Amino acid sequence: MADKDTMEKLVSLAKRRGYIFQSSEIYGGTGSVWDYGPLGTELKRNLKERWWSRMVHQRDDVEGLDAAILMHPKVWEASGHVEGFTDPLVECRVCKKRFREDTLADQACGRKPSKAPGEHDACELGEPRLFNLMFRTFIGPVEDQGHTVYLRPETAQGSYVNFLNVQTAARQKVPFGIAQIGKAFRNEITPGNFIFRTREFEQAEMQFFVKPGTDDEWFDYWLEERLEWHKSLGIDPQRLRLDEHGPDELAHYAKKAVDIQYHFPFGWKELEGIHNRTDFDLARHEEYSGKRLEYIDSGGGERFIPYVVETAAGVDRTLLVLLVDAYREEEVEGDERVVLGLHPSVAPIKVAVFPLVKKDGLPEIADRLARELRKAAIPSFYDESGSIGRRYRRQDEAGTPWCVTVDGQTAEDGTVTIRDRDSLEQVRVDTSKVADWVRERLTVE
Ligand code: ATP
Repeated sequence: MADKDTMEKLVSLAKRRGYIFQSSEIYGGTGSVWDYGPLGTELKRNLKERWWSRMVHQRDDVEGLDAAILMHPKVWEASGHVEGFTDPLVECRVCKKRFREDTLADQACGRKPSKAPGEHDACELGEPRLFNLMFRTFIGPVEDQGHTVYLRPETAQGSYVNFLNVQTAARQKVPFGIAQIGKAFRNEITPGNFIFRTREFEQAEMQFFVKPGTDDEWFDYWLEERLEWHKSLGIDPQRLRLDEHGPDELAHYAKKAVDIQYHFPFGWKELEGIHNRTDFDLARHEEYSGKRLEYIDSGGGERFIPYVVETAAGVDRTLLVLLVDAYREEEVEGDERVVLGLHPSVAPIKVAVFPLVKKDGLPEIADRLARELRKAAIPSFYDESGSIGRRYRRQDEAGTPWCVTVDGQTAEDGTVTIRDRDSLEQVRVDTSKVADWVRERLTVE
């Protein structure tokens, strides 16, 4: 369920339950930068873990890399970012607000009359000028042109400049890929929609190096594979679609690009991009560094600069999809409840353990069980405060898939009830079997 108010409700739930806070909130916040709280941190770790497992651990043709954020400034000249990573910025002469010219229609003000009190009726926009989105800083104590470095706007370039290092060290043969998860920074003109577009964010990108001529086939393979991965996170397939870039939308390096889009409360928007980047990046790095970046096939001795098929997902944006997709309000036995129906594999807390009442030794048994589950690497939470109904509601809102209750019968036969967040079904399971019961349901392909 994702109506117009969903975003507002999510922002408030995210704060209340410790998923996401505004950065530097006590100082009034930092423009479009967010901090992840206890539950948000776990959700993000789980999400990244699922990506890494599918993209690296379960394959023998993709290697991991963790390149630095600061790179040689020539990297960004070669990649085309210094010259071309720009958005057209227009400023209103009256209110001084700045907008992205190419997305004016999506924005709150722009040419449309503004209804807010005290604001003028229609913006008077100046001429567009190009604004580079890279954050610039200086390396070392001297702040001059020769010491300029950039905070990387994408992780991909780290994989390109390390292409031969990884290929030789890991003794890989083309086709193979390099996967990275890491921070990227873009000084976006109009960030917004919570964590959808921020100035500091994380990407999960994979560059797959292939023999020219096989790139179309690999492109189709990776597009399908990535779409399947999103579905495996439990995202509603009806809210996912593919959107191919037309010739006038393609980035300078791309032969083909297809976005995986999600139907957010604010419309269909990109979640991940699959790009055929040809040999553009490697060829440019050869040219700018003067170092050969050819692949030599050890079998036939053939030499070529590989083509690259890139899968580029935003971690924070995928996390937002998970939250939006999981959020629902429903009535249960005459009571309103808010549920985050997160897939168990990504849910921050897997099990909450409650004593039904705070007497007869039940708290001790429940606390012991929660500890045992944690030792078995199942994130678990013990809660004895408030009515059982309230405790369920708190966990429903936090996205916890299972609540275990220790009751009078536990003392007699050693069984507990396990309640399912979504179906509300309850089953009785032997206390010693709870960890296995949960683990079986956490396994994903
Ligand atoms: P957009 O058109 O939304 O600006 P993009 O086409 O520039 O995105 P890519 O360069 O392909 O995006 O980056 C890959 C992914 O990184 C995007 O699909 C998105 O999930 C994520 N991403 C890009 N910019 C941001 C941002 N400012 N905030 C959060 N995530 C982002």
